[in-house]
Amino acid sequence: MYSKLIRHSGNKDLFRAVSLSVAALSSRHPFHLHAEGLRGTGKTTILRAAAQLLPPIVRVRGCIYNCDPARPHCPEHRGLDAAALAKIGTEVVPCPFLEISQSAKVGTVLGSIDLSRLVDSSRPAAALLPGTILQAHRGVVFIDEINRLADTGPELADALLDVMGTKPGRVQVEETGLPVVEMPVEVTVWAASNPDEEPGALAQVRKQLADRFDMVVTMGRPSEYRSVMAILAQREGEGAPAAEEAAPRLGDFRSVAVDEGLRGILAAIFIDFGLESLRAVEGLETAARLAAMQAGRTQVLSEDVAQVAPIVLGHRTDNATLSGILKHLQTAGRSPDTWNQTADSGDRQDGSRAEAAETGRTRSRLERWWSEFKRRMGSGRNRPEASKGTSGGGGWPSGGSSGGGGIADPMNVDIVAPPRAAVPLAELPVEKYVGGEDGSRHA
Ligand SMILES: [Zn+2]
Repeated sequence: MYSKLIRHSGNKDLFRAVSLSVAALSSRHPFHLHAEGLRGTGKTTILRAAAQLLPPIVRVRGCIYNCDPARPHCPEHRGLDAAALAKIGTEVVPCPFLEISQSAKVGTVLGSIDLSRLVDSSRPAAALLPGTILQAHRGVVFIDEINRLADTGPELADALLDVMGTKPGRVQVEETGLPVVEMPVEVTVWAASNPDEEPGALAQVRKQLADRFDMVVTMGRPSEYRSVMAILAQREGEGAPAAEEAAPRLGDFRSVAVDEGLRGILAAIFIDFGLESLRAVEGLETAARLAAMQAGRTQVLSEDVAQVAPIVLGHRTDNATLSGILKHLQTAGRSPDTWNQTADSGDRQDGSRAEAAETGRTRSRLERWWSEFKRRMGSGRNRPEASKGTSGGGGWPSGGSSGGGGIADPMNVDIVAPPRAAVPLAELPVEKYVGGEDGSRHA
């Protein structure tokens, strides 16, 4: 099913991000993914179908927390010695893929008191019934319309912040009558949302949660005739050829090497382009290693970084900085060797790097100045919707001057010509422009 989905220019980033996230999961490293786009762009179809790509897991037999036999973590198994665990045995189960719906309650997502154990007449006990997140340990939790969930369920958003804040994350369950239970949890979060529908983009509803995603993909329409024809043919049941390399390469991305030169590129991206958090550049390195692994290489190249930069940095920086970074990577990628030399000898071929960095600095300075200018103009005119009109941080108001009081992009505004053409000075009657000191006109 997943391999039969039609790939086109509008969804290829999501397919790539899914591969990286699945490869990361097989390396036991949650790499969270958020797909944003209009209704009907197929983001939920792709994400749900991608459940088929997830590799099966081995767990302690019958453990609903999916205990790793080598490192059991649940209340029932974590204290057991090897002999006791061996007696229980292991089993192979499909990788968990669970959904959190809009109507989900905190108790079902995190955990609650197991009522069946509480009312057990022979041996009543207060026990924890693990919620969706704990049961998805070592797998994926999918949340459709995460922007709405963050808006209507702030306490669920808090729980997600804990799950996604560290790797592995943690879950804390508080129930009256039970001691507070805190457990590590290794869950990859996949989410989808439509920023154009209520309550707006996740970054506006809950910025902190939006920032927790390692990759954000913007879905678009197909722009090639061939893709649209294939989609139509598939509707008729003609069946499209399975996409090549549909299944991601699994393994441990930590075995993909990052050399000194590439670390230098990443450091320059972080410092010269003024990225806000180290999380961004860490995510960039991880994604680049995952991409190298997908390409069947054991060494990261600057082209891997360039390939993943838009989906890793797109939501963490503005467009101008991102294109500066991509340009910088092109320069760096042309002669990867010079990076090593630069670190040693430090002068001759420093030019291109310094130049690229300088361009980036100037760009981000200009960009910051311009955002500040727009902000002041917006607040000065007391138009709170001004900031809403701009898309994603440094973006322009979408519809020229109609962006709700924001400053229009001079390159992207409809210029309306004056109703009457100007009359050249020579054609004006002289009394129209020659005036005397006393206000009278001279012929
Ligand atoms: Zn267990």
